[in-house]
Amino acid sequence: MPCDTINPQTLFKCLKCGDCCKGYGGTYVTDQDIETISGFIGSDPRRFVAQYCMLSGNRPLLAQRGDGYCIFWDGLCKIHAVKPLMCRKWPFIESLLVDFDNWLILADSCPGIRTDVSADMLKKFLKLKNS
Ligand code: SF4
Ligand code: SF4
Repeated sequence: MPCDTINPQTLFKCLKCGDCCKGYGGTYVTDQDIETISGFIGSDPRRFVAQYCMLSGNRPLLAQRGDGYCIFWDGLCKIHAVKPLMCRKWPFIESLLVDFDNWLILADSCPGIRTDVSADMLKKFLKLKNS
């Protein structure tokens, strides 16, 4: 397949199953995420971190409920319009995808990730995306 025909859907199509919103290492939020999401839900950054986040070291993560799901999952993402950078980037996380094996590992936890693609296709797509 020529690289100019590779687009996100060639490699990934979200099935809206919510599996990525449960468990794993958690969802980190940036200062910008905190600002944006707290505004969206009518909170403020300090209250938002206290009510909706937990800390990993000194980095805030979105809190998880007892069932392991993100606190903002309710059959779909309740903050979809302003979801954190990490969720918006998924599964195209460049720092992980320097190694194609990580694409296959991510696919184990996300049925929307196509595994019938080559390392070369993924590399070309990431290069196009960042150009
Ligand atoms: S696990 Fe994959 S397919 Fe399922 S909701 Fe998350 S991104 Fe979409
Ligand atoms: S913010 Fe939304 S997309 Fe991100 S983990 Fe939570 S429910 Fe899922």
